[in-house]
Amino acid sequence: MLVVLSRDHMATGGPRSARSTTHTEDILTRKYMAATEDRLIELGHSVIIISDDNYRNRHERAKDYRAHAYIACHVNAGFSGRRQPFGAFFYDNRSEKGKALAKSLSTALVIGAPAVLSCRTFSAHPDGWTAPAYNTIRGVYDGRPVGICAEPFFLDCEEHSWLLHDSALVRVGTALAEGLHAWYEDK
Ligand SMILES: [Zn+2]
Repeated sequence: MLVVLSRDHMATGGPRSARSTTHTEDILTRKYMAATEDRLIELGHSVIIISDDNYRNRHERAKDYRAHAYIACHVNAGFSGRRQPFGAFFYDNRSEKGKALAKSLSTALVIGAPAVLSCRTFSAHPDGWTAPAYNTIRGVYDGRPVGICAEPFFLDCEEHSWLLHDSALVRVGTALAEGLHAWYEDK
């Protein structure tokens, strides 16, 4: 399996990326992506990391590579505190394969990093609150590759604060690799 990991927001702590007073999305994302890459390679897969270019060009490149999966890598922010926090995986509403991959990632993350507490999968649409996630995968929805927008935890909620440590980020990244592997073996 060939996996493209996209370090989104142009791989910078730009104005639209998530941040708290102590952590930024770009640094946390880079750390868990490194663990995902390591584990995928251990499992016999190949990985290409994209950190430059706009989303549309990234999607075109991933299609040119004939990748099996494309993961738009993020960390979430802005948790309301009203409910238990969760990891989130968004798939394109047009994509059955994406739905299956989102479920596999979701299952693997709760097993591999129980501090996430729970995971949810969402069908992403061009309108409404899922539109930002949709835009990160809209060009790669259901073939080679299948696209997922990953928001494995929140960087600004107390319940997820343990996940900000390097050792926990390794567990998050490793779990994502396990979820990709299980999906690929299954299909
Ligand atoms: Zn983000």
